[in-house]
Amino acid sequence: MSKKRKRKLNRKKILLVGLFIIVTILTIYLIIPKRYGYQKEVIETFKEDNLYEKIKETKKYSKTLETAILENKFNKDYFGEYLNIIYVENKDFIDEVNNLLSLGYKSDEINLFYEKLPDNINVITSNEYDKNISNYLTLSYFNIDNLDRYIKYENNDNKFTSVYDTNTIKDNYNYEDTVTFVNAYLDKDYYTNDIALSKEEEKKIDVIVNKYYKLSKDYEPDDLTKIDSKFASGSNQRLRKEAAIKFEEMTAEALKNGYKIYAGSTYRSYDYQLGLYNRYVAKDGFDEAETYSARAGYSEHQLGLAVDIINGKWEYLSENDEEYEWLIDNSYKYGFILRYPRGKEYITGYVFEDWHFRYLGIDLATKVYNSKLTYDEYVARQL
Ligand SMILES: [Zn+2]
Repeated sequence: MSKKRKRKLNRKKILLVGLFIIVTILTIYLIIPKRYGYQKEVIETFKEDNLYEKIKETKKYSKTLETAILENKFNKDYFGEYLNIIYVENKDFIDEVNNLLSLGYKSDEINLFYEKLPDNINVITSNEYDKNISNYLTLSYFNIDNLDRYIKYENNDNKFTSVYDTNTIKDNYNYEDTVTFVNAYLDKDYYTNDIALSKEEEKKIDVIVNKYYKLSKDYEPDDLTKIDSKFASGSNQRLRKEAAIKFEEMTAEALKNGYKIYAGSTYRSYDYQLGLYNRYVAKDGFDEAETYSARAGYSEHQLGLAVDIINGKWEYLSENDEEYEWLIDNSYKYGFILRYPRGKEYITGYVFEDWHFRYLGIDLATKVYNSKLTYDEYVARQL
């Protein structure tokens, strides 16, 4: 053989081998399934479950999906959700994910829970489905320690079973209320969850006192100041100094505008409140007295920061009075707010008291006034 021929033959051989390799690779490529990053046995499961076509469509690798299969915890119904759930390194992850999915949560919610609430997954899985958890998380006053209570409150169909008419609240209710109300302890019955205020807290002008926050028996403000008797019923109406001054200013301004208002009832000691409450119970019965009279220790009057107002006819103020309208529009400018408004009875724990005003200082009273919230709700949103 000539050298030339030999070279030609070699070239032919190389060409054939090359062709063979190309055909083989093509065949393998077409016959052997693509794995998109999945392990071989995972691909087998996809094929058995007729899911391989879907994987081919999405071309997506999901470690959550793969792990569910490898751990034999794969539920075909959740295939699409697994695909979108971001894997978290945690030995119980797939069990937790399956629990969440079976409760009704979707992949976007689950991803959010692992991002924002990684240590509270068991709280979510131990409750019923709550469509609003992702909404709670957007609120500045969301308190992670209350998560379990938020979910239970939201799912409690009897939450508005109350001695008060709760229709107004029900009509406008949303997830913000769930977080606000639970922060305000409304998921617990009145007087069943006492929070004892400290000596320092009792003295603060903005201290909240209601059917959850309690004053000590011996608390008495050290700056009680008499209100000028021309603005008060009798000569011994006392408020804390700052509140007394502002009350007189407000009353003087009201008078300039033609409205006569007086302080009818102001500071009451613990013992006085106790006697008053007992008299009301004797007169109207326990259930009714509870709606308008505070038990001793739970009254704002013990703070020396509350005033029951009397009108120009020397009667307790009523919403039909022109003095009332003037006070609603102006009292916050002197630091006072209407404390127990209509429609909010369930929240405040009291009937609409058109005569009872609370001193908070001008800044805070203005904020509360503008918020259109009760003071209980306002405080619950300050966490
Ligand atoms: Zn009062």
